[in-house]
Amino acid sequence: MSNSEIVIRDHINGEWIEQRQLPTAPLYNPSTGAQIGQVPLGNASTSKAAVAAAAEAYPAWRDTPLPKRMDFLFAMQSEMVNRKEELAQAIALDQAKHIAEARGEVQRVIEILQMACTIPALIQGETISGIANNISGRIYKAPLGVFCGVAPFNFPALVFGWFIPFAIGTGNTFVYKPSTESPLFMQKLMQLLVDIGLPKGVVNVVHGDREVVEAWYDDENVAGVCLVGSSPTAKAIAEGCGRNGKKTMLLGGAKNFLAVMEDAPMDLLIDNVLMSGYGSAGQRCLAVSNIACVPEIHDEFVERLLEASRKVTVGDALNPDVFMGPVISSRAKERIENYINIGVEGGATLALDGRNPQLADANKDGYFVGPTVFTDVTPCMQIAREEIFGPVLSVMKVGCIDGALRMIRNHPMGNGACIFTQNAYYIEKFINEADVGMVGVNVGICAPHPYMPFGGIKDSLVGNNKVQGKEGIDFFTQNKVATVRVVDPKAGQPAAAKTDSGVRSCVAS
Ligand code: NAD
Repeated sequence: MSNSEIVIRDHINGEWIEQRQLPTAPLYNPSTGAQIGQVPLGNASTSKAAVAAAAEAYPAWRDTPLPKRMDFLFAMQSEMVNRKEELAQAIALDQAKHIAEARGEVQRVIEILQMACTIPALIQGETISGIANNISGRIYKAPLGVFCGVAPFNFPALVFGWFIPFAIGTGNTFVYKPSTESPLFMQKLMQLLVDIGLPKGVVNVVHGDREVVEAWYDDENVAGVCLVGSSPTAKAIAEGCGRNGKKTMLLGGAKNFLAVMEDAPMDLLIDNVLMSGYGSAGQRCLAVSNIACVPEIHDEFVERLLEASRKVTVGDALNPDVFMGPVISSRAKERIENYINIGVEGGATLALDGRNPQLADANKDGYFVGPTVFTDVTPCMQIAREEIFGPVLSVMKVGCIDGALRMIRNHPMGNGACIFTQNAYYIEKFINEADVGMVGVNVGICAPHPYMPFGGIKDSLVGNNKVQGKEGIDFFTQNKVATVRVVDPKAGQPAAAKTDSGVRSCVAS
């Protein structure tokens, strides 16, 4: 199949469905600007069909013995290892994540699956015996039914990993809606699930935009909805699900912070800023954006940053020799370039302009923005307040660590923040006081390992539930409580319960 013929299909109840009656959205290769295929834009009816399939599959899947469910997760993991390159190429093609990072994303999902394979140890319940004569209280970690998940464009594999292994490993079934801008990974991954023999209806994929998601809000078969996306989308889903009492796990947008102290290890710092600021062309929820630097080291840092940024090569995401690929769409390119104008008009110094970057290859129609550095930024400027989601860094001068912490505290978002220092006092103070969900010390990207929860606070997380780790597993289960009286068949029925004081209790006694 040539790239121009890529047809993205829904997968419902074990069948690939070409939704010929639906309108489609064009699918582009952002590195070249060429259309490579099309994506069906599903509606309430395709969405509800997928939920109905998941609901039908649920009882048998819930009752599938846990070791058998784990067999599927182990098979998923080993087949992902076998198909790692094919999956990474899919991400590098439609999402245009640099091929080395795309491989890294698939590898991270393989590690998440290792974590998900510990589910049997983590969903063991609790029992209290002797609550009263022959009565025990028990807590079971029970599945809830059908969960639905919505993915952003920028992590097509990772978000699959955050949702589906934990949801189905704990006995639920799933409906997944990828982004229309990067559906190719899930098309390949769904085929992998078919090939390992996952029973039909356990995972269903439906493509489209908000109409697909909105159909879940009043669907009585849907137990909960999870999203990774922008904050307005997270709030819209919270409102829709809230009206109908559905569980939600909603990770929103981000603006991430980095504090540079006077004793920062400079080579390590520069390497990490480049990787964090320009990796995935700045389209990461943990991409560094606002950098607070103390005066003692400010000029040296800016000089080194500019020198290194000028050397960053830009080109096709599938070219292993470049550092940075394009952004996702012409719309995203326009938005980022507009923020560069806003920064200049707002009074910041444009020390490095990424508009019209020099390209390492001939893809002049791709959606490229090069490394961009603003200096003399203040925390209230629009470029420092809003999520740009591109390779744009804002450097601010702060008097001391308290200035950096104030910048973080006063920002509406709270996903990630890092500090570069060798001073133990600064490290502890930063960990304690940085008002974010994920803190890094001398690491540019503070993405927690799959054994730990991942998520921010403030506008970066709507509600309380985070993905990954034990929290990620808890979201997909309920603590079902059973109060059990055993009756000795030989001794006959016990007498009516009475407390010592003669008062009748509303609990079993
Ligand atoms: P987006 O919010 O535009 O779309 C995300 C998904 O939601 C898509 O599948 C889209 O079809 C769907 N959607 C859009 N509007 C909707 C609505 N009103 N109701 C229901 N569904 C809707 O986000 P995006 O541009 O695809 O991704 C980038 C955003 O995701 C950034 O804000 C980034 O910070 C965020 N993100 C956050 C994390 C995190 O861990 N917090 C991780 C990755 C991305």
